[in-house]
Amino acid sequence: MRRLPVYIVVDTSESMFGEPIDQINRSLDLMLASLHRNPYALETAWLSIITFDSIARALVPLTDISEFKIPELKARPGTALGTALELLRVQIAKEVEPATETEKGDWRPIVFLLTDGQPTDSWRPALEKLRAQRPKPANIYAIACGSAVDFDVLKEIADVTFRASEATPDMLSKLFIWMSSAIQSVSKNASQNGLSADDLKTPDGIEIVGDEYPDPPEDPPQLFFHGVCATTRKPYLMRLKYVPYGSGVYFPDASFPVPDDFFIDGGYTPPEISSERIVAMPPCPYCSNEDWCSCPRCGTGFCFNHEKSHEQGFVVCPECEARLLERPEGEEGEPFSMRPSAG
Ligand SMILES: [Zn+2]
Ligand SMILES: [Zn+2]
Repeated sequence: MRRLPVYIVVDTSESMFGEPIDQINRSLDLMLASLHRNPYALETAWLSIITFDSIARALVPLTDISEFKIPELKARPGTALGTALELLRVQIAKEVEPATETEKGDWRPIVFLLTDGQPTDSWRPALEKLRAQRPKPANIYAIACGSAVDFDVLKEIADVTFRASEATPDMLSKLFIWMSSAIQSVSKNASQNGLSADDLKTPDGIEIVGDEYPDPPEDPPQLFFHGVCATTRKPYLMRLKYVPYGSGVYFPDASFPVPDDFFIDGGYTPPEISSERIVAMPPCPYCSNEDWCSCPRCGTGFCFNHEKSHEQGFVVCPECEARLLERPEGEEGEPFSMRPSAG
């Protein structure tokens, strides 16, 4: 039996944190259930899930649908697309049976690449290696979610690029239902050509990007910052939203508790932003402290209680224990540069 290998490569960067990643987890569950009900898919399709943030992981290697166990996807900082493409190449070389003189081998794998951001590593060498691999590895279908995507990158990587306006739960749900039916259709009409013209018909809100590739915005639509709670000493993630006011500012949007091992250094340093463009930080998700400061000694951002520290006359950095003096009431500080997270 010739297998149809399907690789789902998912961007699990910080911008996917919360609702989007929860929805992807639910959607994968539904996708598997619907593939299980389809005799063609059950017979032909093999599935792999690769995720990428600061690092890329083959979360599930290429597996027969009937034995596939849904993993739990987690969001983390970074968008290491190059590392993901290299891992994809290695996995395809290892897992897909090539055609030989006597055997037909597997069908050409199809790849769905789901991303909502801009790469934080170098991706071109990995793409060149992937493209040079023989037999030709795959049709790549890229799905760009939201407005922060670098379409110039996807244009080079993908055979077909789709665009969804936002990575909302509803949109992600529709996207996975569409992918699921495309996989079923390709399983039935297995060919070397991947998705047929009919399969390329996407639900409302998800469209094929033609020759006109939109430019990425000058200012990212969202910014992420890391914080440490001064009360509980636990890490959290803050999300700020761009508002086109004046030269563009960022308003507090949400904050999330994150696991202790959430923040990993992927080697990428995002550009700094002036504190003048940050209207405020979201409150701490652990203790609801609304004040926030950045330690001038170790650079850690942390929540603090303004009233309490005003009484004491100082705040203590939860990371390096530095005692930072409170500014006298009413005195405005100089603007300073802030380093967001890799996003
Ligand atoms: Zn706190
Ligand atoms: Zn410090």
